[in-house]
Amino acid sequence: MNRRKFLRTSILGTALAMSPVSFSAFGAPTRRAAGKPGRLNLSFQPYELKLRHAFNLAKNQRTTTPGVQVQIEYDGLIGYGEASMPPYLGESVQSVTEFLGKLDLSRFSDPFRIEDIHAYMESVAPDNRAAKASVDIALHDLTGKIMGQPWYKIWGLNPATTPNTSYTISYQPDPAEMQREIDECAPFRVVKVKMGVGHDKEIVEALRRTSDVAICVDANQGWSDKEHALEMCHWLAERNCLFVEQPMPKEMIDETAWVRERSPLPIVADEFLQRLPDVQRAHGVYDAINIKLMKSTGMHEAYKMAVLARSLGMKVMLGCMTETSCAVTAAAQLSPMVDWADLDGNLLIANDRFDGLKIVDGKVTIPDRPGIGVELLG
Ligand code: MG
Repeated sequence: MNRRKFLRTSILGTALAMSPVSFSAFGAPTRRAAGKPGRLNLSFQPYELKLRHAFNLAKNQRTTTPGVQVQIEYDGLIGYGEASMPPYLGESVQSVTEFLGKLDLSRFSDPFRIEDIHAYMESVAPDNRAAKASVDIALHDLTGKIMGQPWYKIWGLNPATTPNTSYTISYQPDPAEMQREIDECAPFRVVKVKMGVGHDKEIVEALRRTSDVAICVDANQGWSDKEHALEMCHWLAERNCLFVEQPMPKEMIDETAWVRERSPLPIVADEFLQRLPDVQRAHGVYDAINIKLMKSTGMHEAYKMAVLARSLGMKVMLGCMTETSCAVTAAAQLSPMVDWADLDGNLLIANDRFDGLKIVDGKVTIPDRPGIGVELLG
């Protein structure tokens, strides 16, 4: 334990932890008694993430993502967590705050009982994966701070082996907007291209006019014809593409397996897969899994998923939703053990609350701070 050192370097966090101010379910600050000594004290607030540019996905467009910011205070320390709820996952500010409002973490006196606390959360309600992730991330931040160590060290991982992260672009109808997106890719070594919106080859051809950067493709279930999906895999393989993520609707299991058997590129499961039992289901249908903390209920199960996928001979990708640096940096703690990272969620928003991971020469760089490695800004 190196708490003394942590306290010296985290005056702001400690001062916040001592504050009796917390937040009601709908964002208005409310007075609340300071947590019981030696007990976990959970507080939370809605926080809308504002996107720097509109997302054009296969099935919708959006300019904001709803989120909830979470704090767990314990014995003068504070752990930060976050839930991010892109609409297609079915959670909302209301569902997350309702779930968190049902939790009584003051029944726990030991924040290291992460397995027990997950079991308790499962007993309160099924699903609610992003809400559970927010608590899980805050617990990892808190326990890492108590130990004075970042989680990549606690897991025994080498921070020098983090992967490059991809940076996401999507089709823009206006050519100037499309070129602006392409220009923003310059610092990155891998560019993730969103497809399945009807202009798939145009995006790659526009990119290739000025850059030979490696790409990966996320079709977001946008190709419903297996012959077309396979033809796209061959076309992309000739254009320096690393893999194709979720080419077909998640229900089309036989068709996806058919494409995988013939594809020159690895096929990655994203929407198909949420939690640990899904890894076994994905085996034989996909070559790799895309783990995201908002799907996996946080870092605890994400680590188990990565280990299981490896043991099955599958590759592992680590992704994120649109998130602040809080959840993205928490995910980055796991990044030394994955093949590909797509940790650009914090770069896509205009109102980040945290300082955390950095992308240096396109590579994920984990901060040398305890816990999940973030500091609250301002
Ligand atoms: Mg995806």
